[in-house]
Amino acid sequence: MNSLQKTDPEVFEIIRDEEGRQEYRLEMIASENFTSPAVMEAQGSILTNKYAEGYPGRRYYGGCYNVDKIEEIAQKRAVELFGVEHANVQPHSGTQANMAVYFTVMEPGATYLGMDLAHGGHLSMGHPKNFSGRLYRVIPYSVRIEDHLIDYDMVRDLAKKHRPRMIIAGASAYPRIIDYSIFGQIAREVDAILMADIAHIAGLVVSGLHPSPAHDADFVTTTTHKTMRGPRGGIVMCKKKWASALDSCIFPGMQGGPLMHVIAAKAVALKEAATREFTEYQTNVVKNAKTLADELMNLGFKIVSGGTDNHLVLVDLTDKGVNGAQAQEILESAGITVNKNAIPFDPLPPGKASGIRIGTPALTTRKMGTKEMKLIASWISEALQNKSDEAVIRRISGGIRELCEAFPLYHDKKNEV
Ligand SMILES: *Cc1c(COP(=O)(O)O)cnc(C)c1O
Repeated sequence: MNSLQKTDPEVFEIIRDEEGRQEYRLEMIASENFTSPAVMEAQGSILTNKYAEGYPGRRYYGGCYNVDKIEEIAQKRAVELFGVEHANVQPHSGTQANMAVYFTVMEPGATYLGMDLAHGGHLSMGHPKNFSGRLYRVIPYSVRIEDHLIDYDMVRDLAKKHRPRMIIAGASAYPRIIDYSIFGQIAREVDAILMADIAHIAGLVVSGLHPSPAHDADFVTTTTHKTMRGPRGGIVMCKKKWASALDSCIFPGMQGGPLMHVIAAKAVALKEAATREFTEYQTNVVKNAKTLADELMNLGFKIVSGGTDNHLVLVDLTDKGVNGAQAQEILESAGITVNKNAIPFDPLPPGKASGIRIGTPALTTRKMGTKEMKLIASWISEALQNKSDEAVIRRISGGIRELCEAFPLYHDKKNEV
């Protein structure tokens, strides 16, 4: 960081502050994680200098013989790890991975089915301000009121009624297993394309902790920075028959030059994800989420769907006298970072929301386990119950600082240099 400090002390200082925030506070946003120094080294490398429009062996620029090898390694690792027929590692983000699929299979005005945003769907599944809502006719499906599980009967009924070109299986705030075989059956019944968006759960999928959509889905999209713990970016995978249409949709259709430094970092993350340590890590992510859900329920919290099968817990605050936005703020003041989140059938608008979403991937990366989850659940409960008692909040944030010091993240290696 020496040259940055010299060239731009202002930005340098802010990055240092952010390092402190990540090191000494509890990061519990379900879509965040802490990537490895090896991933960051690749991402911060000189590969950022190279233009490589096109694909390995078919570039529009000279001098691509090294980056070709990198992209080929990333593709090969993605294909093997996810058990798919084809992978494109160029999408700059998860939303662009989804856009690539939509543009490959749909013309503007086409109809698709996606999870209702108010029930856990993602922005890129039909938000009215997003391209996904502006260009297409979106038919949302939701979860059942009685158990908060995806209403597969509703998906089938809507599919038969609207005959969509595509059905999307995937969500940002769904704590349960998604049944891709039912989605596959429904898609076949109405001759629709099935896309599985595993942005959140990809790490669980490659570790065998969540069923894989590779068999049932025509397309699988993911981010690489959530449970995958890689650099910020996306990957799209598909059956062979879609491969060339998909590739030309991404380049030249949607993007210019690929981010070769990020693709190198994706390759590194994919290698890490194939290790036994990574599977153990994901096992602990799920175990920690279950512990957190159980503890919060013991402390009197309502949990959407009554628990979790994956890396996240959705807390229903309707009987707690705080809304999601307030809870987010109270926890932030104590040193716990979460996000407000709509719960199914939420009476409040999304800006307030009646819930918070809590995830365990980041804290599990710094090796926190069952004991720490129990402690954190008790802090969450205490902070929310004593929101205006500054002494309580101060005591909790002191405890959090100590806990973080006992589970160092990057601090050991970096800051002392
Ligand atoms: C996070 C997420 C995305 C998009 O990720 P970005 O990289 O932020 O664009 C897409 N789909 C789902 C389900 C997600 O949770």
